[in-house]
Amino acid sequence: MSTLGYKCPICGKVFDNMPGVRRHFIRNHSNLDHCPVCNKEVNSLAKHLMRMKDDEHAVLWYLYNNLRGLRDKELKSKIRRIVKEKLKVKISVVEGLNY
Ligand SMILES: [Zn+2]
Ligand SMILES: [Zn+2]
Repeated sequence: MSTLGYKCPICGKVFDNMPGVRRHFIRNHSNLDHCPVCNKEVNSLAKHLMRMKDDEHAVLWYLYNNLRGLRDKELKSKIRRIVKEKLKVKISVVEGLNY
């Protein structure tokens, strides 16, 4: 038996829904002084993520602030789709959720 979950792209913790990952990400990974994707030092992770256009950065941007400031609706839904595809994992029910 398995069910679907979403994993944190930084530490790999798995949650049973996307809001759970976002809450975890903001609490644990939002005050980094370097970018977890490209390892660049940043003053503001949010600003750095917003400028980047590749998928990996977009995923973190979504987790960080839900794409606030992005007006392009098509791009938004595209990024949401990418996020779901990238973070989705199968969880074994026997193992349980790793909170
Ligand atoms: Zn994490
Ligand atoms: Zn980066």
